[in-house]
Amino acid sequence: MEFKIIKSDHAMPESEREALLENPAFGVNFSDHQVIIEWTKEDGWQNARVEPYGPMLMDPSSAVLHYGQEVFEGIKAYRHQDGSIHTFRPTANGARLQKSAKRMALPELPIDVFVESLRALISVDAAWVPKPVNEKTLYFRPFEIAAENFLGVRAAHRAEYRVIASPVGPYFTGGLKPVSIWIALDSARAGKYGTGEAKTGGNYAASLISQNEGYENGCSQVLFLDAETHTNIEELGGMNVFFVYKDGHVVTPALDGTILRGITRDSIIQLLKDKNITVEERTVTLAEVREGYNSGEIKEVFACGTAAVITPVGQFKSREEVIGPEDPQPGELTTALREELTGIQYGLVPDRHNWLVKLSS
Ligand SMILES: *Cc1c(COP(=O)(O)O)cnc(C)c1O
Repeated sequence: MEFKIIKSDHAMPESEREALLENPAFGVNFSDHQVIIEWTKEDGWQNARVEPYGPMLMDPSSAVLHYGQEVFEGIKAYRHQDGSIHTFRPTANGARLQKSAKRMALPELPIDVFVESLRALISVDAAWVPKPVNEKTLYFRPFEIAAENFLGVRAAHRAEYRVIASPVGPYFTGGLKPVSIWIALDSARAGKYGTGEAKTGGNYAASLISQNEGYENGCSQVLFLDAETHTNIEELGGMNVFFVYKDGHVVTPALDGTILRGITRDSIIQLLKDKNITVEERTVTLAEVREGYNSGEIKEVFACGTAAVITPVGQFKSREEVIGPEDPQPGELTTALREELTGIQYGLVPDRHNWLVKLSS
């Protein structure tokens, strides 16, 4: 697919952009351009283009506004020391976008077009990828929406794929300080046969009430339990979770259709296997975590996702209890994994699994 390039005539002046790239907040500012590909039921994907970033004109009856037919991805561009720009496992994100789209009855964008769309955006916005210091990256937000003006309830006959990009610094501003996690006792994120495995906005909308509760209680993330028994640990609102045991083995909840298939999660499992560390993907109950923390059996807990990479977890809290140490420190394995993964992404550690894809030299 050929991308038509329409360059912005109001791109941000270099000095302003450079100032902004010094210390970018997460997801607040956007690069000068965006990718758009349209889809119709009759003619499929068409009219691929890169055009100036800006507001979109949308009819108030647009299907996405009413029935939430939307899916998205999160993936980063990393600048290496030699100036080249790389992304991490983009075919995995492209495949996941297809799966999410399928679940939400949206059209599946070919994976190679997904990868090309990132390359097309970088072809005009390379200057927006920050220098490789302080974990700065350019965060891509590819997304797909129903774009038909129609209030009837059925899968839209028109859709749109876009990519926007935001220069970002660390997701959590406190450095590697362990975060506190709020346990959602009164809500679930996803149910069996539901949309938990799809990266769709509605899952996030459903998680926000608990996140607010978490904020009120000094927690920055929320832990969700399974909807059926409300005893098993699933994941955080936007991150997967791992537990490191005293004897060295690592446990993470098994993917059961309600948990998002994190690419960071998958990469960490591979890095652990490379180190000959046993990883168990299985059911983890809240009771096991409570007992494990109290007995010292569980030594480290961390959460992972593209945005925050790997984040040490300190305490779990709910209106009923506080689990975990008063003064948590980032764990040894947590820190080592984080260094290795970011090292691969920034080209400082050999990329044994060929995870990097070059977007620009
Ligand atoms: C995106 C996301 C993750 C993390 O996935 P990565 O591919 O590692 O970025 C985890 N959980 C949820 C609910 C997500 O939306």
